[in-house]
Amino acid sequence: MSQHNTLGGKPDSRGFFGAYGGQYVPETVKARLDELSDAFHAALNDDSFQRELEYLFEHYTGRPSPVFHCANLSRMLGGAQIWLKREDLNHLGAHKINNTLGQCLLAKRMGKKRVIAETGAGQHGVATAAGAALMGLECAICMGEVDIERQHLNVVRMEMLGARVLPATSGQRTLKEAVDEALALWVDDPDMFYVLGSAVGPHPYPYMVRHFQAVIGREARAQMLEELGRLPDVCLACVGGGSNAIGLFAGFLDDREVRLMGVEPGGRGTAYGQHAASLCLGEPGVLHGFNSYMIKNAEGEAGEVYSISAGLDYPSVGPEHAQLKDAGRAEYVSVTDQEALDAFFSLSRHEGVIPALESSHALAQAIKMAPTMSPDKALLVSLSGRGDKDVTQVAALMRAARG
Ligand SMILES: *Cc1c(COP(=O)(O)O)cnc(C)c1O
Repeated sequence: MSQHNTLGGKPDSRGFFGAYGGQYVPETVKARLDELSDAFHAALNDDSFQRELEYLFEHYTGRPSPVFHCANLSRMLGGAQIWLKREDLNHLGAHKINNTLGQCLLAKRMGKKRVIAETGAGQHGVATAAGAALMGLECAICMGEVDIERQHLNVVRMEMLGARVLPATSGQRTLKEAVDEALALWVDDPDMFYVLGSAVGPHPYPYMVRHFQAVIGREARAQMLEELGRLPDVCLACVGGGSNAIGLFAGFLDDREVRLMGVEPGGRGTAYGQHAASLCLGEPGVLHGFNSYMIKNAEGEAGEVYSISAGLDYPSVGPEHAQLKDAGRAEYVSVTDQEALDAFFSLSRHEGVIPALESSHALAQAIKMAPTMSPDKALLVSLSGRGDKDVTQVAALMRAARG
């Protein structure tokens, strides 16, 4: 049975979004992925699963998250109106919980005993630990040693939620290595479910994560229609692996008049090793079982990446974004650390909202664009998370800048 993939639709029967995605894994792993894919599709057709997830979204996460008009910031910039989709107001302060509740509920439905996850900034680890605690599942989280240091508070949170944090000590000791270790542990344990944190990995993960995050775009579309009587002109979201972005975009893919913009971490500049802008500066290649744009080193393997945001420094990106880029349906740009930091302060000082450094990338692009557009235009920014986790890091940067 062959099944064709269209933009915004299901991947094809081999798990491809156009030329990207797939399952680049050994046969034994493919069997585990097929088991997962079958269980996910069964859950999609099961009303009780959908109802339980909707109940949790409303009563546990606090959905729907509101949209908010940044009147002060928009007036100052003197152009288009900036709106935020407030995923920072979710339980635990980011969009990650939308996906981990879905996957942990699926793990329970499959009769799994344990979950494992990778984490970069620690946000996905915390959201997985909470989901596992809620569903009565054992939980282990793989995290790079560098990130364990950068995001100490999230390590403490995970442990308080009953999870074990396993340090990844190889290579750059950040997100890529955490994924490597988590995958290795999962492959060896049939009672374990791998809760993947972004719209990456082999099929069915990118499709499944998009499904659980699509609530962002579904709500935002209805809310903007309610507030403005029309759709926003541009939707913007930061792109690490691409889950908050694909979740927002999913609601607007069929609305051809809405521009979709993904904003990648431009770090300290475009030189190799100074950024993590996989779509803007990478090339097609296979990492972690899927084909997409990636940053490569001289040997053609996953290269070194850098971002001010621990949640954005991954050398590849969700395959559906690669398809949307090639098709021209979404545009991808990058902003630097400094631009993201400036946006972080602008929102804090003018709207009283401290954004995550990740989300600050999307906001920075909106701040760049707004003055070039007329005041009757609307930019909708995915505020993927709150910045409480980043205040120690930003305070240190401020101290260093003062000398
Ligand atoms: C993890 C994270 C991101 C990046 O992940 P995506 O999958 O690209 O969305 C962005 N913002 C916040 C707040 C995060 O925690």
